[in-house]
Amino acid sequence: MARYIGSVCALCRREGEKLYLKGDRCMSPKCAFEKRSYPPGPHGQSGSFRRKVSDYGTQLREKQKARRIYGVLERQFRRYFQEATKSTGVTGATLLQYLETRLDNVVYRLGFAASRKQARQLVLHGHIRVNGKKSTVPSLLVKPGDSVTVLEASRTSPFFEGIAKELSHHTLPEWLTLDAANLSGSVVTLPTRQQIETPLKEQLIVEYYSR
Ligand code: SF4
Repeated sequence: MARYIGSVCALCRREGEKLYLKGDRCMSPKCAFEKRSYPPGPHGQSGSFRRKVSDYGTQLREKQKARRIYGVLERQFRRYFQEATKSTGVTGATLLQYLETRLDNVVYRLGFAASRKQARQLVLHGHIRVNGKKSTVPSLLVKPGDSVTVLEASRTSPFFEGIAKELSHHTLPEWLTLDAANLSGSVVTLPTRQQIETPLKEQLIVEYYSR
């Protein structure tokens, strides 16, 4: 499966804001955006990137930002949008709901990983069960009532022992529940727009695809 393999910090610099793609490092002085907040590339510092942006450019940037935050490629992102347009809900909010209920995002939201990228690796490497069954598909969409659990055999690894210690400080979204002792969570409801803290203006994304 194709994935973006370039520098993720360059994505923050390209979008002109911190997207928090690297977990704890993003909060530390090592964050690349703190040192170089201008866009990457030979003209990044010259300011030529900072000329007035058209409506189309603004919409495009918001869409790219959403893709980068959730780590989704264009084709799949467009597919989520098309599905959202068929739903009875508000298209932008439904699009975000699809992105939030991806298994890799839920693993991240439960606090089992420091970033969505790391959560994706945990899923791909078979550390996660959904409803008691091992799932290695990061794009799997979970539903209310589904349980998401760390494999019993993995719980004693140094990585998950470290994660378990940190869970008491973890802020859990209202639409999930967590049993920290057993590294197990469940989906209570689908997230509402208010419960999704991702800083996105989804209406711009809807406008981008509606052109
Ligand atoms: Fe972005 Fe995090 Fe890299 Fe900072 S450390 S530039 S927030 S991915």
